[in-house]
Amino acid sequence: MATWIKDGELVDPVKGVVEMRDIVVERGKITKIIPAGKFKEKGPRLSVINASGKIIVPGLIDMHVHLREPGHEYKETIATGGKAGVAGGFVGVACMPNTDPVNDSSTVTEFILNQARKANLLKVYPIAAITKGQHGETLTEFGDLREAGAVGVSDDGFPVSNSEVMRRAIEYARYHNLVIITHCEDMHLSEGGVMHEGFVSTQIGLQGIPAASEEIMVQREISLAKLTGCPVHIAHVSTAGSVELIRHGKEEGVPVTAETAPHYFSLDHNAVRGYNTNAKMNPPLRTIEDVAAIKRGLAEDVIDVIATDHAPQSPLEKDMEFDKAAFGIIGLETALPLTLSLVREGVLSLSEAIRKLSYNPAVILGVKAGFLDEGVSADLAIIDPEYEYISKEEDIQSKSKNSPFIGEPMKGRNVFTIIRGRIVWKRDADRFSR
Ligand SMILES: [Zn+2]
Repeated sequence: MATWIKDGELVDPVKGVVEMRDIVVERGKITKIIPAGKFKEKGPRLSVINASGKIIVPGLIDMHVHLREPGHEYKETIATGGKAGVAGGFVGVACMPNTDPVNDSSTVTEFILNQARKANLLKVYPIAAITKGQHGETLTEFGDLREAGAVGVSDDGFPVSNSEVMRRAIEYARYHNLVIITHCEDMHLSEGGVMHEGFVSTQIGLQGIPAASEEIMVQREISLAKLTGCPVHIAHVSTAGSVELIRHGKEEGVPVTAETAPHYFSLDHNAVRGYNTNAKMNPPLRTIEDVAAIKRGLAEDVIDVIATDHAPQSPLEKDMEFDKAAFGIIGLETALPLTLSLVREGVLSLSEAIRKLSYNPAVILGVKAGFLDEGVSADLAIIDPEYEYISKEEDIQSKSKNSPFIGEPMKGRNVFTIIRGRIVWKRDADRFSR
C-alpha cells in the first residue's frame, strides 16, 4: 500500500530550500517527491495524509542522548526513550555509554542494538566509551566496538583528563572511522560546583562551575585535533568563550565540529533561582551573554548541531536539595519547539534549523540519514509550526519528567513521525488524515 503525503511544505536542509511538495511512500521508501498538485493517482490502495499547513522534514537525528539502559531502567529504557524520541520528531538517536555496565565492550553495544530492535521504534546509534569503565586510563577496543555497531566513542559525563590518552583516542577513532565526542570539563576547576559560577551563584549561595572549566578543555581538544589532523566533536557547548575558541579553530582549518543543546539557548543561570533542580545540568546554564553567544554561534555555523543531551532522572535523584540533586534534564520532546523559536526570532532560517537537527548530526555520525530524496528510506516528520500548547508533565512520553519547561508555553509540534514508511507516532492525527 502506498501513502501520499499531500500539500505539505517540504524542508530540504541539504539544498536549503522550503517548497510545496507531495511525497509518495511505497514499501518503506520515498518513491516520489513532486511539486504539489501534480500527483493524480487514486485508488483503494492509497492512503492519504493531508499535510496542508504543515512542514515535512527529514526525521530528526539526536546525536547526544542518555537512554539509561542497561542498568538504570527505572529512569528510562531504550523503548521509553524511543517513544519520547518519535514523539519529538526524531528517527535516530546516538546514545552515550554511561550506563551500568558502561558500554565499553561489544557485548554491551550488541545488547543496546538488540533492545533497540525489540523496541522497533527509532534507529539507535550506540556511542561506546573511549576508556574502560570511563576511567580515563585504558582505551577500549575501538575496532571490536565498531564491528559490533558503535558509530562513535565518548566518555561523556566525564572528560578524558590525560591529554596523551586523548591524543591516542583521537587518532584511533579516525583510524576506525568512529566519531570522537568530547565532554569538555576540567574536573579540578569544577569540583563541588553545582551551577554556573557568577553573580547568581554568589547571590543564592551555591558553589559555582566557572566557564573556564569548559573552555580550557575545548582549547585542548582543538589543539589535539590540530596536532593530529584528526576530527573531534565538542559536546554541549555552553559558553561564549567556547564559541570563540571553536570559531578560531575552524578559521584555522582544524577539523572540529560542535553541538549545543536547546536549554543553552533558551535559559540562563537565573532559572536556578528558587533552587529548581530541573535547572541543574552539566555544563550548567550560563549567563545571558553566553546565551546570546550560543545563538550567534548557531547562526554563523560555528555550532553545527543541536542535540538534546536528554538525561532522564527520577524523583529519587531530583526531589532533594539543589546541592545533592543529580545533573541533567530530558529534552527529546521539547527540542523541536525550542529550536523553532530561534526561527521565529530570526536567528536561523527554517532549513538551517532543521539541518542542525538532522543532516549535520547524521554527517558527523557517519550515518546515511537526515535528508529526503527519491529512493531513500521514508524516515520523516510532519510538523505543525503553528501548534500552540503548554508543555505538560502528563504528555511526556519519557519515563522521567525532569524538564524545566513543564508549564511553559510552546509553539510548533511534531504531529507525525514516519520511519521506513510506517507511522510510529501521530498526534491528533484525525485532524490531518482521511
Ligand atoms: Zn556531557
